[in-house]
Amino acid sequence: MRGKLYVLSGPSGVGKGTLREHALNNLQNLVYSISCTTRSPRAGEVDGREYRFLTREKFEEYISKNLFLEYAHVFNRDFYGTLKQDVINELEAGHDVLLEIDVQGALQVKEKMPEAVLIFVAPPSVEELEKRLTGRKTESPEVVKRRLETAINELKLKDKYDYVIINDKLENACDELRKIIL
Ligand code: ADP
Ligand code: 5GP
Repeated sequence: MRGKLYVLSGPSGVGKGTLREHALNNLQNLVYSISCTTRSPRAGEVDGREYRFLTREKFEEYISKNLFLEYAHVFNRDFYGTLKQDVINELEAGHDVLLEIDVQGALQVKEKMPEAVLIFVAPPSVEELEKRLTGRKTESPEVVKRRLETAINELKLKDKYDYVIINDKLENACDELRKIIL
C-alpha cells in the first residue's frame, strides 16, 4: 500500500525539529525526507544527514530540471527544496513520509498532492517563540530578528492547514502529532 505524506510547518524555533525527532523515533513506518538547501552547514551538521548542502548554481540547475516537488526562498536568504523522486520512491515503497518545510513549500505540496496532510506547529505566544529561538543559540541576533518577522507572517497562514498543534507542553504536542499520523 502506498504511504501517506505528512507536512510539518511552523515558525523557526517553535519546536518542529524536536517534534519530528520524537515522531521518527516512535513511528516505525515513518521516514524523513532530507531537504536540499543553499545555506551553510551549522556546527555539527553533516551533508546528507541534516540537509543536502548545495551551491546556488546546483540548486538552480535542479530547479531548471524540474527535480523539486517544492522549493522556496526562505527568510529572504537561502533556498530550500524537497526532491520529488525521493518522496515518490518512499511513498511507493509503502513508507509514510514526513517533510519539515516552510509554509510557502507546504502550500505548493498541497496543490500538487492534495492528499498530503498539512500540520502547522504554533507557539503558545510570540514571546515564548523568541525565547526558544534565542535559547537555541544557533542564530545571530540579526537572524533571530528576521526569523521572528517571518514568523508573524507564517502564523497568518495556519488556517490553510489540516491540523494545528500548539507546542506548549512538549509531551502533549508529541502525543498530538503521533495521534494525527496514526
Ligand atoms: P524548529 O525546528 O521549529 O526551529 P527546535 O525543535 O529546534 O525548533 O526547537 C527550538 C528550541 O525550543 C530548542 O532548544 C528546543 O529544545 C526548544 N523546545 C521545543 N519544544 C519546546 C517546548 N514545548 N517547550 C519548551 N522548549 C521547547
Ligand atoms: P533551518 O535553516 O533552521 O534549518 O531551516 C529554516 C526553515 O527552512 C525551516 O522553517 C524549515 O521548515 C524550512 N525548510 C527546511 N527544508 C525545507 C524544504 O525542503 N523546503 C522548504 N520550502 N522549506 C524548508
